[in-house]
Amino acid sequence: MQNVYLDYAATTPTDPEVLEVMTPYFTELFGNPSSIYSFASKSRAAIEKARGQVAAALNALPEEIFFTSSGTEADNWALKGTVEKLRSKGNHVVTTQIEHHAILHTGEYLEKVEGGKVTYLPVDEEGRVRLEDLKAAVTDKTILVSVMFANNEIGTIQPIKEIGAFCREKGILFHTDAVQAAAQVDIDVKALSIDMMSLSAHKMYGPKGTGVFYLRKGLKLENFVHGGGQEKGKRASTENIAGIVGMGFAIEKMKARLPQDKPRISALRDRLIDGILNTVPHTKLNGARGQERLPNNTNFSFIGIEGETLLLDLDAKGISGSTGSACSSGSLDPSHVLMAIGLTHEQAHGSLRLTLGRGTTDEHIDYVLSVLPEIVAKRRKMSPVWEEYVKKFGEK
Ligand SMILES: *Cc1c(COP(=O)(O)O)cnc(C)c1O
Repeated sequence: MQNVYLDYAATTPTDPEVLEVMTPYFTELFGNPSSIYSFASKSRAAIEKARGQVAAALNALPEEIFFTSSGTEADNWALKGTVEKLRSKGNHVVTTQIEHHAILHTGEYLEKVEGGKVTYLPVDEEGRVRLEDLKAAVTDKTILVSVMFANNEIGTIQPIKEIGAFCREKGILFHTDAVQAAAQVDIDVKALSIDMMSLSAHKMYGPKGTGVFYLRKGLKLENFVHGGGQEKGKRASTENIAGIVGMGFAIEKMKARLPQDKPRISALRDRLIDGILNTVPHTKLNGARGQERLPNNTNFSFIGIEGETLLLDLDAKGISGSTGSACSSGSLDPSHVLMAIGLTHEQAHGSLRLTLGRGTTDEHIDYVLSVLPEIVAKRRKMSPVWEEYVKKFGEK
C-alpha cells in the first residue's frame, strides 16, 4: 500500500534543511538572548538574521516583524490589540464568515468581553468577498478590517489589493490572516497596503509553535502577551530561538522554490480536480478555479456520502485527507465555510479536502484517481440519501 499525504493545509513536515539550521540552537547555542555574556549574543544575532529573512520575503522592514508562538496568536494580537488601542476612535470590526476560528472565535470574545461590534461579511458561491459588501459595511466607528488572504478549506484567494487600497483610503486598519497564502503565493505587504498580517511556520515546512506578526511601521497596538521586554517590549517571553531560526530559513527557502513549486503543484492540483470531476458523477468542486485558487487546494462535495466515512476508507488505502464536515471537529455542524458558499447540509457533509505539497507526485495523483471513484460508488450504494437523490436526478 502507498502512503499518500494530502493534508498539507493542516500542516507540513519540517524540511530537513530547516531542522538542520535549527538544531544547534537547542544544544550548543542555547544562550538566553537577554543575557549579557558574549555567548548569548549569538542567539540575539540568530533572531535578527531570521527577522531579516522574513522581512525580505514580504517586502517588509525587519522592525515590522514580530515573532509569536503561532498564527493563532498573531490573529489574536491583531484583533484584540487593535480594539483595545483604538477604543476612543471606535469599536467596529469587519471580517468575513469564512475566517479561521482563530479570527472568528476572537471576534466572539471581542463582542462578549470587550464591547466590540463585529460584522461578518458574506462571500459569493466561490468564497470571494465582494468589495461592495465591504464598502457597505464600514461605518465611522470601523477601526479594523480583517480578511484572510486565502481560505484554508476551499483555497479561494481574496481581492487583497483592492481591500487594502480601500482601507488605506478610509484610514481603517487592514489585517490579513495569510497563514495559508504565505506558503504558496508571493506577498508584498507594501504593494498590497497591508497593515498587519499573520503567518505560521508549520504551514510552510517550518516547525510547529512559531508564528509571525507583521505590524506596519508607525502603527501602535496594545500588547497581547505581557511580561519581559522581548521583541522591543511588544511581545514578552523568552524567544523560541530554534523556532524563529527555522521560520526565517523556511520562508527564505519557500520563496526561492516558489517559481518551480507553484506551476508544478498547480498542474497536479488541476489534474486531480479534472480527474475526480470526470470520473465521479454528481460531484461539486468547492471554491474558484485557476489563479484565484491556492495552488495546492482541492475541495469536493460528493452527494450522498459522509466526509468522515470517506476519510476512513481513504485512510485504509494509505491516503490522508480532511473534511470540513461535522464529527471530525466534535460538533454536528457542517463547515461554516461550506455553508457560507451556499452548500446544502448534504453537500457540506459529503466534503473532502485534499491539499498538495512538495512531496506530492504524479504517482500520488494517479493513485488517488485509481481508488477514489470506487470508494465513492461503494459508499453511495449503501446511502439512503444517495438513493433519494438518484430517484430525483438520475445516476449520471
Ligand atoms: C493553520 C491556520 C491558522 C492557525 O495557525 P497556527 O500556527 O496553527 O496557530 C490560522 N489561520 C489559518 C488560515 C490557518 O490555516
